[in-house]
Amino acid sequence: MDKQQSKLLREKMVLHQLAGRGVNDSKVLQAFREVPREVFVPEPVKEHAYQDSPLSIGSGQTISQPYIVALMTELLEVKPGDKVLEVGTGSGYQAAILLKMEAKVYGVERYSNLAKEAKEKITALGYTIKIKIGDGTLGWREFAPFDKIVVTAAAPKAPQSLLEQLTVGGKLVIPLGSRFSQEITIVEKRAKDEFSSKAVCGCVFVPLIGEEGWNELA
Ligand code: SAM
Repeated sequence: MDKQQSKLLREKMVLHQLAGRGVNDSKVLQAFREVPREVFVPEPVKEHAYQDSPLSIGSGQTISQPYIVALMTELLEVKPGDKVLEVGTGSGYQAAILLKMEAKVYGVERYSNLAKEAKEKITALGYTIKIKIGDGTLGWREFAPFDKIVVTAAAPKAPQSLLEQLTVGGKLVIPLGSRFSQEITIVEKRAKDEFSSKAVCGCVFVPLIGEEGWNELA
């Protein structure tokens, strides 16, 4: 795919898959116009990078459907300079979108090969990110608190560690439900121990495996 093709496909994706379905934050749409998704997709499926679906990135994991990435980004209401924790960095695409929106991004990914490749790709695009290999259900205490937290894997409930590591006034966007079907949910931290939550739409994510998520063998 050459640069011209990529630009054209990005424009179509924004128009039909994102704006056409109700994503209307202009900063989110602009980030999707500018970040080349094919960079984050493995060689065998590069030609499908702008398909309206998730794609395999190896290790049994996926890069999410563009619409879902856009919706979760919009729900986060990212402002320049926000400290954002992303749990489940996977390919690095969601992180690159957040970086394009001028957030400071901290990623946690349990697969070391995915974390390493994501960091290389993001760095090659000229952004700076901190990525930790490990269990993101425990957050990243060293850099907490975070203004926003996005979890891009399915959880049975909002992990307590993530709720603790959110600033008061901050937001957690997370798919909550069973291992096989969830709802994208916004959790807002109103005060130290006071939260409100709202389910936004149905979705299907790979499981969040960890101490405060699903058991790997379940
Ligand atoms: N945000 C990613 C992107 O833009 O490509 C897509 C993420 S993929 C749907 C979910 C990711 O969550 C997988 O890479 C998986 O390895 C990771 N994951 C699952 N449980 C995790 C945990 N406890 N901590 C960190 N990463 C986890």
